[in-house]
Amino acid sequence: MFDKFEDECGVFGIYGHPEAANLTYLGLYALQHRGQESCGIVASDGVSLRAYRKNGLVADAFRNNEVFDKLPGQNAIGHVRYSTAGGNDPKNIQPIMVDYVRGSIAVAHNGNLVNAQELRNELEQLGSIFSTVADTEVIMHLLARAQSDSLADRVVDALKRVRGAYSLVFLTETRMVAVRDPNGFRPLILGKLDGAYVVASETCALDLIEAEFVRELDPGEMIVVDKDGLHSYHPLEEAKPSPCIFEYVYFARPDSTIFGREVYGVRKEYGRQLAREYPVDADVVVAIPDSGVPAAIGYAEESGIPFELGLIRNHYVGRTFIEPQQSIRHFGVKIKLNPVREVIEGKRVVVIDDSIVRGTTARKIIKMIRNAGAKEVHVRISSPPTSYPCYYGIDTPTRTELIASTHTIEEINRYVTSDSLGYLSEEGLHKATGSCEGGSCEGQFCTACFSGNYPVKFPRLKADKQLGLF
Ligand code: AMP
Repeated sequence: MFDKFEDECGVFGIYGHPEAANLTYLGLYALQHRGQESCGIVASDGVSLRAYRKNGLVADAFRNNEVFDKLPGQNAIGHVRYSTAGGNDPKNIQPIMVDYVRGSIAVAHNGNLVNAQELRNELEQLGSIFSTVADTEVIMHLLARAQSDSLADRVVDALKRVRGAYSLVFLTETRMVAVRDPNGFRPLILGKLDGAYVVASETCALDLIEAEFVRELDPGEMIVVDKDGLHSYHPLEEAKPSPCIFEYVYFARPDSTIFGREVYGVRKEYGRQLAREYPVDADVVVAIPDSGVPAAIGYAEESGIPFELGLIRNHYVGRTFIEPQQSIRHFGVKIKLNPVREVIEGKRVVVIDDSIVRGTTARKIIKMIRNAGAKEVHVRISSPPTSYPCYYGIDTPTRTELIASTHTIEEINRYVTSDSLGYLSEEGLHKATGSCEGGSCEGQFCTACFSGNYPVKFPRLKADKQLGLF
């Protein structure tokens, strides 16, 4: 189903800087964790757009310096993308760039449109020919058909028809437009560097290029940047904001500030709350790196049990790692992680991770920790059970593959072979996320992956329920 291909992305844009393409490259470097399959930059010199897009990591795709000579101009946008199986066809690499009757336009999209299939069917009936499987291309067709005179109005005309999650950055010959959907599912940050405007999925991208943080775009806000400066609009129908809480749990980088809070502090608070909810007599707290580290530090601080680096990660193994031949496949997770025997041997170990999806990682790691001589292994997860698929831009499997949707916590405990298993409660998650403001943040975030409460409804949800996929 094509609307699963736009999952997990990072976007970046800069307007009015002589080093636009180079800075976009650096911005994408900082956003690499949001997508490792492909990346691309489109630059504008005020007259035309030029694109460079490639499969692979940013460092590899832009290894050759000459690439930047082909991306001249003071304005550029970029994208990093993670796609699910089958989605790594070079055609689908973003930013998408098209020529139409009013010139050229490119777009980088983070999120997932929930009515893309219906719109695509409708547009195909009207004669549109699609060249990618990306839901983002639907926006381009709607934009090309829009009759309004100004670019801003045409973008709004297109976006009034789409539903779901989108943080978008458009680039034309002379303008940059950035928009966040009315629910504000995905982050989008505004910054400034030497008088140039910058937008990025996360603040860590601003930090790298030493841009000043200005503010986050509001849910439903659109900014237009051109030679006259920056203009802000709120042209879309208002909705109750529901930023994605999973950005805090796992997805965003811990050194970023998004949705008004520092990710590191929120993650650490999840660990503290987890220690209050599921204490255990143990000798050492160990994180599954890197995702479990801040929560493990919080758990250790709250419980008084020392935090140690009990698992060491090989940082040179990418997500695209292809397992070697069948006969030596059992190495599996050992290629990525190796236990530190002196930390673990003879100890009662608390192992912290941010989430369990299918359960395979936890199962393998617990086996590894036991083989390193642990006396007991207690698993603590710094978010509630992930029981429902995400339709708003985080890649999760269907409901039947999510272990927490088909098994009880006791069954999961047995499957992953831990001595005990504890998940942060939903109430605890709300309390810990809200703690910076001194209260619970219940109702302020999208927690669909934990609760099944989807803030934006759509036909596929109903269909998936009928198919038992939901
Ligand atoms: P699993 O083996 O399927 O249970 O995967 C669990 C691991 O995947 C945890 O260590 C998580 O940090 C990580 N994880 C959680 N959500 C995602 C996601 N959407 N994409 C990639 N990894 C994830």
